[in-house]
Amino acid sequence: MDKVQILTTCRACGGKAYLPTNEVMTSADGHTYIRRVPCTACAGSGRETRWIDLRDFVRMLNAIAMEDGNPRANSDFGLALFDSKQKENIK
Ligand SMILES: [Zn+2]
Repeated sequence: MDKVQILTTCRACGGKAYLPTNEVMTSADGHTYIRRVPCTACAGSGRETRWIDLRDFVRMLNAIAMEDGNPRANSDFGLALFDSKQKENIK
């Protein structure tokens, strides 16, 4: 099966990018804060690239089109996601 690569939220840090350590730091003006370090999985970007099955990608596109309302409103993109039975009803 063909696959496509998507850029999505890092699963390791949930998109937070920087994660807290157990170290309490004191800033130059006397405030204390928890030291945070970049997520090792995404190098502090909060994103990861992932290969997914093309059919799963189409399902994701379809779900987004449905979230946005009528898929037909999304021009050719939404229309292409209709199954053949639905296309017949459009004519
Ligand atoms: Zn991460």
